Amino acid sequence: MANDPAAPAARIVRCPICGKSTRYDQTNPDRPFCSSRCKTMDIAQWADENYRVPAKPDYGEEEEDFPRVKDDEDD
Ligand SMILES: [Zn+2]
Repeated sequence: MANDPAAPAARIVRCPICGKSTRYDQTNPDRPFCSSRCKTMDIAQWADENYRVPAKPDYGEEEEDFPRVKDDEDD
């Protein structure tokens, strides 16, 4: 029953990135993506989302925005 040569164990899933049907088994190292390209795109999307929700405003450039020109203290 378990040994059915007509039914390979390979599962077909849809690539979450491009929607293309792809194999979900050891022959596909990029599963569940169809290719390494889609896999990379997925990682890029995650990274993008992380950047979109900044925990803190970034300092650095802002400090250059105010030039402190303190010549003398006018008393
Ligand atoms: Zn894909």
